[in-house]
Formats: sequence, C-alpha cells, structure tokens
Amino acid sequence: LPTARLECPQAGDIDALLPRPEPESTKYRRGVLGMAVGSDRFRGAAVLAAGGALRGGVGMVRYAGREAVATEVVRRWPEVVVSVLDPGDPLAGLPEGVNAWVVGPGRGVDGAAAAELESILATSAPVLLDADAVTLLGQRPRLVRDRAAPTLLTPHAGELARLLPDTSPREVEARRLEHATRAAEEYRCVVLLKGSTTVIAEPGRPAAADPTGTSLLATAGTGDVLSGLVGSLLSGGLAPREAAMCGAYLHGLAARLAHDGGPIGASDLIDALPAAIRALR
Ligand code: AMP
Ligand code: MG
Repeated sequence: LPTARLECPQAGDIDALLPRPEPESTKYRRGVLGMAVGSDRFRGAAVLAAGGALRGGVGMVRYAGREAVATEVVRRWPEVVVSVLDPGDPLAGLPEGVNAWVVGPGRGVDGAAAAELESILATSAPVLLDADAVTLLGQRPRLVRDRAAPTLLTPHAGELARLLPDTSPREVEARRLEHATRAAEEYRCVVLLKGSTTVIAEPGRPAAADPTGTSLLATAGTGDVLSGLVGSLLSGGLAPREAAMCGAYLHGLAARLAHDGGPIGASDLIDALPAAIRALR
C-alpha cells in the first residue's frame, strides 16, 4: 500500500510562511477581512473572532451584523469598521471589496443566514466557513465545489459529519484524517478538521497535522478565535492550506504560552497571539 504523506510543519516553516508588515505595507495590502459572524444570541463569537483576526495581523476587519452585535464588537475592538445590517434587507449592507471572508461562528442557521452564505460564496474572495456556515452547507457540495475562488472549511468532528452523508461524529473521530480528506475531495476545497489533533486536507496535496495543539483548547470560544486568526492570514494572501497550517500552529502555541498552570479561556488566547508570533523567530 502507498504510504499517505503527512506533513507536520515546524516553527521555521510557519515563520517562513507568515506574512509580516513591511515598509511599503498599507492596511489594504495587509488585507481587509469581512466577517459575517455572531448574532443577537451569540455576540461573544463575533468579539472573539474579531480579536483572533486583529492579533493575527490583519490590515482591517470589516464586521457585518446586527446593531447589538456590532456595538459589542466596537466596544471591545474600536479599530473594527462595522456595517450594521438592516434586518429587512441584510444582503444590501454586506461590505464589498474585502480580500477574504469569515462566515459562520454564532451566526445561526435560519433562512437569512443561508441567503447571506450564498451571497458571500458568490463573490470571488477566498472564504472561510466555520460552525453554522458548515452546518448550512451540509450536503450541498455544489455551493463550494463550483466556486472559482478558494474555500476553507474549519469544522469540528460533529460539523464534519454533517458534510458527509451517512457519517457519524464518532466515525469521524475514529478516522479523522480519512474523513477530512474525503470531505476535501467531495467539496473540492481545503478542510481543517479541529479536535485532539488538528488535520488539514486539500485534494492533491499532502495532508498536514498541527504539532502545537493541546487539550487546553477544549473550551468554549477557542474555535471562534481560530476562525478569525486563519481569516486574517487568508486576507493577507496566504493560500487556504498554508493559512490553516499557520493559524492552527499559532493557536496551539498561544494556548501553551497563555497557560500558567491553570485553565485558560478563549480571550487569553487572543492576548497570547502576539507572543506566539514572536516565539517563532
Ligand atoms: P470549536 O470546536 O469550534 O469550539 O473549536 C475548539 C478548538 O479547540 C479547536 O481549535 C480544536 O482543535 C481545539 N480542541 C478541542 N478539543 C481539543 C483537544 N482535546 N485537544 C486539542 N485541541 C482541542
Ligand atoms: Mg466552533
């Protein structure tokens, strides 16, 4: 049997890939990230995802959402530019001209969220889909497969199972790499499968496993931080597989650096991201 190739990036590989500010950088060249995340019910998801993007080195976050959520986001991160969406015509308010999108965490799975997802997937920007956006995609591979622009899915095992007919979360957990690879092939996109060991699959490329992951991350909101962090790298011009590898690496490293013997929360991860980036060198 042929041996499946599995890459395991090290600090030097991540350091070489990571975009960094240069003398000629502008906020636009560093990358403008559109974020359709959070909802009246899950405002924290928006705050955490925006924080992940900002500490990941994004040029600008453009947050799109309901007024109550946008207010929370700006209270915590005044540097975020918000577009308040009118509940009567939410698609009209989505920002244009962004370099990448993050869609899904805490966003909900109602008709409006589905219409928004389709509208964002119809753009030519790279798109990261997480959480509710993965659920909405469930078994509609065409929405992603037919895109010309790159798409990255970042499900946990339960969300990945929804993408594959007749597959349970337990089966995904038992054969994580195989299921991530199958989803990447069926949806023709990059899949980052979260969990005990994060794996990244892309059709035609070797799969990658993240070496920094730690069960310290098994706490609410850490996935939202990851989505913003990886989104920032996508907006900065990294291809989805490389953005996923760098994001997962820094996410795990930040957890280890934030850890002081006790538990950590998702907010601590955001605060530790700059130290994680420094530690690469
Ligand atoms: P989510 O499932 O979206 O809340 O994301 C949870 C985050 O924590 C992801 O980055 C997972 O990879 C990570 N995570 C969850 N459980 C574990 C675990 N047991 N070991 C390592 N990482 C984990
Ligand atoms: Mg999640």
